[in-house]
Formats: sequence, structure tokens, C-alpha cells
Amino acid sequence: MEGRKKHGHGAFETARRRRRYGLAAAAGAALAAFAAIALVYLIATTLMPPTTTASSPAAKGNAPSQTPQKPTQGQPNEGSQDSDEVSDENSDEESAQEPVVRTAPIPSPERSCDDLRVLVDREHSLPSYYGPSDLVSVAAYGAPVLPGTDPLLREEAAGQLARLMSAAAADGEELVVASAYRSYADQQETYAHYTAMYGQGAGSVSAPPGQSQHQLGTAVDFTNSAAGYNLWWPFGDTTASAWLVENAPDYGYVLAYPEGIEEETGYQYEPWHYRYVGKENAHLMQQQDASLQSFLVEQAVVPKC
Ligand SMILES: [Zn+2]
Repeated sequence: MEGRKKHGHGAFETARRRRRYGLAAAAGAALAAFAAIALVYLIATTLMPPTTTASSPAAKGNAPSQTPQKPTQGQPNEGSQDSDEVSDENSDEESAQEPVVRTAPIPSPERSCDDLRVLVDREHSLPSYYGPSDLVSVAAYGAPVLPGTDPLLREEAAGQLARLMSAAAADGEELVVASAYRSYADQQETYAHYTAMYGQGAGSVSAPPGQSQHQLGTAVDFTNSAAGYNLWWPFGDTTASAWLVENAPDYGYVLAYPEGIEEETGYQYEPWHYRYVGKENAHLMQQQDASLQSFLVEQAVVPKC
């Protein structure tokens, strides 16, 4: 404030002129800079692929906010990859080809009943209406079954079961499928049968409807001649049972209710009952020395369908 009062009129004019000159100079410099930028921009847009075009939507496409659109944009672009004529629209899609697009699809939480790791036990039930949509006849896949039966399993589980059983046969072990998929209604019948025989004790040998792994279409009960083609404990003393314990994980199958952890599983030892969880999960369980129950509890995939 003090300094300003001391300036005379002339000094003020000079200052204004200087300021004007300064403004003009600044404007000139800005123009020059703008021209230079425009030139660089022009050269850049001429030489570089359209992906770098600032006016293209691709500029926005690099931002993470683009991610939600990727599933729809990435697919059509796959086919246009070989094309030399990359339009601006395609360049947008090209920028969508980041690794995020390749991420494995996360199973819908509404369809977790189809997840191979879904936890079905005393506290986690499947709804009565649930049944897998890809059931196939295991006999059709080449797996030996009890005469007069046609057990069903989910496709992947059936394919692996057939491989498992032919490997067992090649090693001289006899295995026969006694039962596989059971619907909620089937389980109601089975449970009623055991309840009539054992009363309240039925719970330790048979699951109440909704709590059976058989409803998943990934559980198998094995038997053989040495076990009298029955589902009972003597099966656990057969060489075929020992073979299963050792080799079944290589085909994605694991013993669901082993001996000694009845309190953990809520079921008696069932040497004949195996569940398919996929080879990776089965090997993971082996590495962690985990029971199926503790592994599934840790995975925490609860039934929603
Ligand atoms: Zn079973």
C-alpha cells in the first residue's frame, strides 16, 4: 500500500504500458507454446497408433474406472485383433485388453451351490429345490455300477470317476459305484428309512434332507465284492479302500468322513463315501494335511442357490 502511493501518474502509465507489453509478450509466448504443442500433437497423432489419440475415448479407457465395462468390450475385440484397420472404436477396446479382462470369473454368490467347495454339513443345508444342471450317467462314462442301477454325477465328476476307476482296475483293485446323486426327495426317503431303523441315531449314519453331499451330484459311495457289495465298515479293510485313500486325490476325490474325526464332521467313519472337489483342491488338502470338513470350513463357501 505504501509503495503504490509514491508512484506518480507517469510512473503508473509506464507500469501500465509495461504490463500491457508484458501481457502481449506473455500472450505471444503462450501462442508460440500452443503452436509448438499443436505441432508436437500433430506429429504424434500422425506417427503414433490411434490408441494414443487424446481425443479418443481410449484416453479415458486407461483409467481403472473403465474396468466395469470390460467384460462386454473385451469380447468383440478378440476377433478384431488381427485386423490392420484399427478404428478409434477398436482402439478403445484394445486398451481394454489389459490383464484384468482375463481374470477368472468369480462364481456368482447366488449360485454357490454349484461350487465344488460348497460347505454342506449339519449347519449348512441345501434348499429342497436345488439340483445340479449337468448330471450324467456314470455308467455311460464307463464307470462300473451295481446291476440295475444308473447312478448320476455332475459331468466333470463323472469323467474323473471313470478315469479313477479304470486306474484302480489297472492296479488290480475292484471298485463299483453303489450310489451317487440323490435328490432332496430321495434323501428324505433314505433318512426316513434310517430313522425307522435307528430312531434318533439315524443322524450319525444318514444326513437329514438338504444336508447330504449326495444332493450336490459330486459324492460317490463305493463298494466291491470283498465288502459284499454293501456300504459298511468292512469296505475300509479292503485293498481297494487303501488304494482309494492314496490315489483318489489325483482324480479330485477325497474321503469325506474319515475315521477319528467324527466329532468334527458330525458323521461316523464312512470309508465308502468320497466327494469330488477337483484335483487342485484335493492336492491342496493333502499339502495342508487338512480334512475335507476343515478345508471347506476354511474356504467358507456357504450354499446359496
Ligand atoms: Zn455317501
